[in-house]
Parts: sequence; structure tokens; C-alpha cells
Amino acid sequence: MATVKRDYYEVLGVERSADAADLKKAYRKLAMEFHPDRNQGDKTAEQRFKEVGEAYSVLSDPQKRQRYDTFGHAANGAPDLGGFSFDSAFDLFDMFFGGAGGRRRQSGPQPGADLRLGVDITFEEAVFGATRTVEVPRKGTCGECDGSGAAPGTQAVPCPDCRGSGQVRRQVQSIFGQMVNVSACPHCRGEGRIIEQPCVTCRGQGRVDERQRLDITIPPGVDEDVTLRYAGQGEAGPRGGARGDLYVGFRIAPHPSLVRRGADLLYELAVSVPQAVLGDRITVPTVSGEHQVDVPPGTQHGKILKIAGMGVPHVRSGRRGDQLCIVHVAVPTHLSASDRELYDKLGQREGKPAEVKKGFFDALKDAFRG
Ligand SMILES: [Zn+2]
Ligand SMILES: [Zn+2]
Repeated sequence: MATVKRDYYEVLGVERSADAADLKKAYRKLAMEFHPDRNQGDKTAEQRFKEVGEAYSVLSDPQKRQRYDTFGHAANGAPDLGGFSFDSAFDLFDMFFGGAGGRRRQSGPQPGADLRLGVDITFEEAVFGATRTVEVPRKGTCGECDGSGAAPGTQAVPCPDCRGSGQVRRQVQSIFGQMVNVSACPHCRGEGRIIEQPCVTCRGQGRVDERQRLDITIPPGVDEDVTLRYAGQGEAGPRGGARGDLYVGFRIAPHPSLVRRGADLLYELAVSVPQAVLGDRITVPTVSGEHQVDVPPGTQHGKILKIAGMGVPHVRSGRRGDQLCIVHVAVPTHLSASDRELYDKLGQREGKPAEVKKGFFDALKDAFRG
């Protein structure tokens, strides 16, 4: 269940002005209080333990703290990737208390790592979507031993030290007093099994380097802040461990004349002074080919001419934005003698320039919104 993150200062129960010593003291007290070894099976305590660890890990790092103070929870990157895990909370605790708190590791093969892949796409592919075959360099399951790491024809045997459980229990004197410390079996590294005859191809790792070809579907309207998750397409874990996930992001090439603002596309429409004064029909590029735009007589600099529905589709709803053509009246800087004469004549007739119509800045603001 997704929950709203609490303020880190509130989590630790300290003032925003708290110094390093205050933070340390608050963390020490709360981490001890909520440590899962003291609160067997209490989910709320587990959650608090993790929360306290996360808050301390950010606030005790001056750089991270400054970013948190400025940007809040948004400061620390993508929330679902590389977030603060339960394991990190234990690591922090062990670091803080010199490993005395003990840590229960999961037994069995470790899962493979998640991978991130950046794919370069064209502006048009981002607008209309496409499919692309990419190569993902990763650790794949060894075909020779089927990922087990044991030579073909042989099998991994249960670890004699932990009798296959992957865990060893020891009586230890900890900061909580005498207690049983359950940790990963050092002999089999918590896997519960020992490979006596390793597979030659993968040297007992159960995985080999591979370049996996993968068809990627680029959704229409994708932007650079969109990440696609391909479950189980990350690295294979060692000796049969579960596969990680693959996260795909996109780098979008710029368009020579269109600029994207969310679902809308902006285009600078250059018109000459006579075109602005007398009006004209002008051909403009769009992502769907050329399009005729009517510039009405008396068009002012900065006016926005909208081509409805010619923008970018929204990546979820599919509703297309608009193309906004922003009129740029190009004032000539070099005049021939006869042009100069014409402008001279116009100048004598016109006198004061017409006042800039109200709403010009409002219109511009509308165009750049989003
Ligand atoms: Zn192998
Ligand atoms: Zn073992």
C-alpha cells in the first residue's frame, strides 16, 4: 500500500535546526526502540525502524540534508528505484552500532540486479510511438548447467554446516542483552547448498555474460521522465537466483523547428511586416506533415495561432495537445533605397504606433504553461 512519506525531522522527533549530535542521539534511541529483534513480528515497529533509518541516512549527510530542506522528498530521485530498503536500515544500524544488533539475512540464492537502459529515439518516435529492438548486455542464466552452477550430471548438495537452511544461529551478547543471532551461513553464503563440481562454462556462478535482444514498445507521447519496467528482464541471480527487472528510459532527439511543452508543440512562425499587416496563408511544419496557417490581417507580434490536435498525445489518455504557432514579426534591418522611401512615406502617414493590445502577455503565459 502506498503511503505519504512523513517529514524526516518529524520521524526523528527533532527540530529543523538539529545538529549532528542531536540527530545521532535521536536515531540511536529510536533505532533501538523499533529494532525488529526487540519487536518480534510487529509490522508497525518494522516500518518505523526502516523509516527512522531512512530519515537518519538523509539528514546525517549534509549534502542530502540540504537538498531535502530545499526540495523535500522529491529531492532524492525516483522513489521506486534504489529507494531505502529494509536491508539498508539494517546496514545502517550495523554501521552505527558496530554490527552488534545482528541482522537476519534471507536464505537461498541472491536475486539478480535491476538494470537501467537509456534508449535514443527520434522526436517523431516519442510523439507517435514505435517498436525498437535493443540489445541488453546482462548476466544471463548459464545454459550449460541451467543456472544451477553445478556441472551437468551433478547436483548441488545441502550445506553440511547449516543443514541446508542457509542460516546459522549463535548466542551473542548484543546491545539488547543475551540473544540469538541468526545470520547467513558463511560456508554456503546463505544459499543452503554447496556445489562440489562447478560447471566449467560459468565457473559455478550459474550465469554468463549475454547480450539479450529485446523488443521495446515506445508508447506514443513518451517523455524523458517516463520509465518503463520490464519485470524479470534484469540480471539473472547467481546459482538460480531470481531475475532482476529492467528499467527503460528514453533520450529524445530535438526537432529542428518544434519545441515540446508537455502535450503541446511550440513553433516560432516568422512573418514579414507586410504579411502581419495584410494577412497571409503560410505553410508550417507539424509532426504530421505540412499545414496551412491563416495569418489574419493586423496580426501582432507574439500572437498565438493554434493548430488544434496537432500536438503530442498524452502518454496515458492518448488525447493530443495542440501546436501553438507564435508569431514573430521579422522587422527588416537592411533596406534598399526604394524600401526606405516606402517606409518613410508610411511613417509620415501613421504617426504614433497603435497601442499594444492588452492580453499579449497573458496569451504568452498561456502558451508556455505546463
Ligand atoms: Zn553453468
Ligand atoms: Zn550453509
